[in-house]
Amino acid sequence: MGTVEGSCSGCTRRWTSLRLAHCAKCHRSFSGAWTFDVHRHMGASDNERGYCEDPEQIPSLELRNDNVWHRRVGEHELSRQDVFHSRV
Ligand SMILES: [Zn+2]
Ligand SMILES: [Zn+2]
Repeated sequence: MGTVEGSCSGCTRRWTSLRLAHCAKCHRSFSGAWTFDVHRHMGASDNERGYCEDPEQIPSLELRNDNVWHRRVGEHELSRQDVFHSRV
């Protein structure tokens, strides 16, 4: 259920989250602008086309059950949470 907020003319992907960023080049879906930007590489000049890096090769991204690439929660952030809990 849920309202379809977006679709792609180049593939069959549909999504319901407004924040989701779908790449029209490689047809992968990303959780937001940050994760999208991580996989996109802009060309050095206007004449040069950018390219998509395979997210499998990017340690800071992970594919979750919703078939969307999310930012991987780093060990640094996890340890910060542990500190927070220990003070409560
Ligand atoms: Zn892409
Ligand atoms: Zn697509």
